[in-house]
Amino acid sequence: MILDVRALTRRFPVRGGHGAVHAVDDVTFAIGHGESVGLVGESGCGKSTVVRLVTRLDDPTDGRIFFEGHDVGAIPAKRFARTAARGRIQMVFQDPADSLNPRFTAFDTIADPMRRLGESAMRARLRDRVHEVADLCGLPAELLGRYPHQLSGGQQQRVGIARAIALEPRLLVLDEPTSALDVSVQAVILHLLADLRQRLGMSYLFVSHDLNVVRMLTDRVLVMYLGRIVEQGPADVVFEQPAHPYTRALLSAVPADGGGPRSRICLTGEPRSPIDPSPTVCRFHGRCPEGFERCEREMPVLRAAGAGRDHEAACHLLDAPVGSAVS
Ligand code: SF4
Repeated sequence: MILDVRALTRRFPVRGGHGAVHAVDDVTFAIGHGESVGLVGESGCGKSTVVRLVTRLDDPTDGRIFFEGHDVGAIPAKRFARTAARGRIQMVFQDPADSLNPRFTAFDTIADPMRRLGESAMRARLRDRVHEVADLCGLPAELLGRYPHQLSGGQQQRVGIARAIALEPRLLVLDEPTSALDVSVQAVILHLLADLRQRLGMSYLFVSHDLNVVRMLTDRVLVMYLGRIVEQGPADVVFEQPAHPYTRALLSAVPADGGGPRSRICLTGEPRSPIDPSPTVCRFHGRCPEGFERCEREMPVLRAAGAGRDHEAACHLLDAPVGSAVS
């Protein structure tokens, strides 16, 4: 495994009040060498917090993060920024315009992590390396002297990706990497990411609300709801045979293969509060169209959801007697 996350938890105290927001609650998953894992869920489900914890921009409240077998979760985020492991976990941000320093040319942006964290051999051939990764990312050399405002959105994101791969990372965390781009550019950048993964053998943690994109680029999918993973499994299995009512609702909004419509599942009811949620109630209860009495008194945990192949979901329907569900 390149990344092994165990019982990861992050709580934020409520400002001026009692209690805490349970942003990430007991999240466990792993990413293999060269594997691409998608993380999906609606806004506020905890995806971004998982990203900040895994990339060590934030410290967990509890749980462990092992990267290449080392317990990096135990290193405070401020200190992690100066370790060699920093270069081996890199991130591509959602909005390239926001993530690039307006005072840096494309060349300086790509060179920056090498100047700060690169080994002496890499720094000695910095110019060649910048041109090499720019070329890998389809960025013409004549653009390297330009500042972010002189580049298009797609070119800015190519600079962001080149910066992220400059140090030869083993894990690339991609946080909605195309959502701020024009539709016409999105496909080009997605193909670039698929190509780079194949050529460089990196692992991806790919965060997106766009399920079609996740399906295209990932081997395995994690579905999050209100701080917890509610379903995980091989992408083809989760997309074809979703086992959790929330995943089914998410997928019902996506056109089926061939572009035909699915029957849309509309969720009603208010999401439960993330502040000190009850440990004995399913987090999806209240919005779940299939909830029943047990869901109000027992939190479901992940369990096998199908015929093996590492497919799990957290829902009592998986062991409820047929006909016991009420809507
Ligand atoms: Fe719905 Fe109950 Fe399953 Fe929760 S445990 S997802 S409320 S059916």
